[in-house]
Amino acid sequence: MQDEILIISHDTGGDIALNQDLMEELIHGGRGNKIIEMAKEGTPLLKMGSGSPRILLCAGIHGNELPPQLAFFKLLNYLEGKNLQGTVFMVPIAIPHATMKNSRRFQGFDMNRKTFKDGYISNTILKAAKKLRIEAAADFHSTQPQSNPGIESVFCSKKPCYESFNIAKHITSQTSSKIIAQKKAGALYGGALEDELNINGIPAVTCEVVSRNGRVDSGSVERSFIQMKSFLDYFKVI
Ligand SMILES: [Zn+2]
Repeated sequence: MQDEILIISHDTGGDIALNQDLMEELIHGGRGNKIIEMAKEGTPLLKMGSGSPRILLCAGIHGNELPPQLAFFKLLNYLEGKNLQGTVFMVPIAIPHATMKNSRRFQGFDMNRKTFKDGYISNTILKAAKKLRIEAAADFHSTQPQSNPGIESVFCSKKPCYESFNIAKHITSQTSSKIIAQKKAGALYGGALEDELNINGIPAVTCEVVSRNGRVDSGSVERSFIQMKSFLDYFKVI
């Protein structure tokens, strides 16, 4: 199995080791250390495995949502040495600069509202997904208690890509996550990565676990990791 890492954006770099809340919970390991180093240059994209299906997992579109970004370091260890039935592309730290600063925003904006706009990192990820002929994608977030949604959940839209709903149903059947399904992608608000992927013909879900912003609440990393494994399980990659 040959792994590849490349940088898909060079204006997002940051030293995530300066985020103490993140580092306290981080599992160190070979590939993880490489990501920390490369994140100084920009947004790393990893590729593992080969062949079909070709799927994408992403975290850190909101830099202060730490559990899913930490879950990626667990996932990398978990996938190490496994014979994958397909190609798994991963963006573990979408905006290292925002993660370094423990910030929801980057360059003053919420990147999960900017995917339709050229030049923003979420748009760069969308373009990469199209170029790489990704067949489905999952974007991992965390949500504050008593916020919106404030519960462990999986967002999806039934149109135009109905498979998004099937993926969400699968993940919610295997986890304690609740499904939040919309009729049509992008109808509530524009620019979310999941919605724009769906609109561009790539089935997609957004997975949320509960944790305070900028913090790592007990069990939240494990919950996010379980959602990731369930997404891979839907495609029988592992
Ligand atoms: Zn978020």
